[in-house]
Amino acid sequence: MPELPEVETTVRGLARYLEGERIARVTLNRADLRRPFPEGLVQSLTGATVTSLGRRAKYGLIHTDRDHTMVFHLGMSGRWRIEPETPDKHDHLVLETGAGHVLALNDARRFGSVDLVDTAGLYQWPAFAALGPEPLGEDLTTQHLAAAFKGRAAPVKPLLLDQRIVAGLGNIYVCEALLRAGIRPDKAAGSISRKAIDRLVPEIKAVLSESIEAGGSTIRDYAQPNGELGYFAANWRVYGREAQPCLHCGTPVQRMVQGGRSTFWCAKCQK
Ligand SMILES: [Zn+2]
Repeated sequence: MPELPEVETTVRGLARYLEGERIARVTLNRADLRRPFPEGLVQSLTGATVTSLGRRAKYGLIHTDRDHTMVFHLGMSGRWRIEPETPDKHDHLVLETGAGHVLALNDARRFGSVDLVDTAGLYQWPAFAALGPEPLGEDLTTQHLAAAFKGRAAPVKPLLLDQRIVAGLGNIYVCEALLRAGIRPDKAAGSISRKAIDRLVPEIKAVLSESIEAGGSTIRDYAQPNGELGYFAANWRVYGREAQPCLHCGTPVQRMVQGGRSTFWCAKCQK
C-alpha cells in the first residue's frame, strides 16, 4: 500500500513531467475508481497548464492555472506509469502533455480516487479539513503531540495513526518511530514523558525522510520505458520482523494487534 514516502516520491517524479507543462489530452478508460471520476474532469484539465504539484497526507495534488487542483489518492494498489511502452488494462486515466509525455494512473484494485477541487478552498475540502499537521512540516512539534496525548489513557500507537493528530502517518512508520524513540506502543499516551515525546518527534521525521530519500533513487526509473513507481523495500528495524532480531539490540521482535493492525516492537528497546 502506498504510504506517505511513496506518494511524496510519486509527486516529485510526476513534477518532472508536469510542472509548467500544458495538458494536451486527458483520457478516461472507465467511469470510476473507488468512486466516479468527477464530472467535467476531462474538460477542466484539457488545455490547462500545471502550475505546481504537492502532497497533503497521502494525497497527491496537481495544481492548474484554472484554479483547480486534481487530487489523487493511490488507494491500495495505485501507481503512475510514466511513458508506458504498451497500454495496460488498469491504466484508468491517461494524461498527455504538450511536450508529448504520457502519464497513466494505473490502479488494479481501484481503491484509489481522483477529485477536482477549487484550489482556493483546498484545505477546507472535507477530506482535508480535519487533518492534523504534516509530519514533515514544522507544525508537528513536541508541543502539538504533548497536547494531543494529554490525559489520554489510549495506547500511543493507534493515536499516532489517527489522521486528526498527525496526517498521513502509516503503520510501518509509527512502528519504526516508536522503536527509535524507545517508547512501548501500548503505553498510555497521557503517561509518556515530555522527554520521550522530544525523542519521538525527530524520529517520526527521520524515518519518513530516510524512506523518501531511499525512494528518490527510484525516480530515475521514471525515465525508463514502462517506468513504474516501486514500493520501497527498506530495511525496517522491527516492522515485519516478528521473532527475528531487533536491529537495535538483537532481542526477538514481538508482534501484537492494536486496533486491528499489527504492531511490531522490541520489549528491550521500548519502555
Ligand atoms: Zn531492541
